[in-house]
Amino acid sequence: MGVEKKRFLNQLEAEGLKQVVPDDFPGKVIPGGNGGNIVVTTLDSVINWGRSNSLWPLYFGTSCCAIEMMQTGAPKHDFSRFGFEVARPSARQADLIIIAGTIVNKMGPVLRRLYDQMAEPKYVIAMGACAISGGPFYYNSYSVIKGADHVIPVDVYVPGCPPRPEALLEGMIMLQQKIKTENMKHKVNPIDGFDEGKV
Ligand code: SF4
Repeated sequence: MGVEKKRFLNQLEAEGLKQVVPDDFPGKVIPGGNGGNIVVTTLDSVINWGRSNSLWPLYFGTSCCAIEMMQTGAPKHDFSRFGFEVARPSARQADLIIIAGTIVNKMGPVLRRLYDQMAEPKYVIAMGACAISGGPFYYNSYSVIKGADHVIPVDVYVPGCPPRPEALLEGMIMLQQKIKTENMKHKVNPIDGFDEGKV
């Protein structure tokens, strides 16, 4: 086969690959000829890429912020575009817990139990002033926990009262970026040392 023809065929194959390989694929796909391809990447990159694009959330909505959280999944904002569409009612099937609303003292142990039931690696987003710090209205109430991070480790804080769906989406995308930097070999479990106040 002539050099020109081979180059042309390789180009055709590469064009075809563009249609099946997403732009953000963390690696190189090289046409190997005879219909085969060679993928060059690292295990961390490809696992983190897959994991960050298929985060299944557990909703922990306790008050008004939950309405904005639901709206974020509705057609107008549609967080399924980013791989979050499979919302789980069971902690055992979820990768991410989104806390939207006030956490009262009685809910603290429930939140902790749900977190403990999630399989690792697991992530937490605290949405709104109540979940972050106890809230603008109930901060000094005897019955309110002053932020989810008094109960479980939080990865991303989304401020607001309530935050708009765009803000929650940005928080979710920030979590994806954080996951893409993880190292499987040296991954630290965020709950390790949490109860002793070390993290
Ligand atoms: S932060 Fe504001 S909107 Fe969200 S739960 Fe608290 S009071 Fe309601």
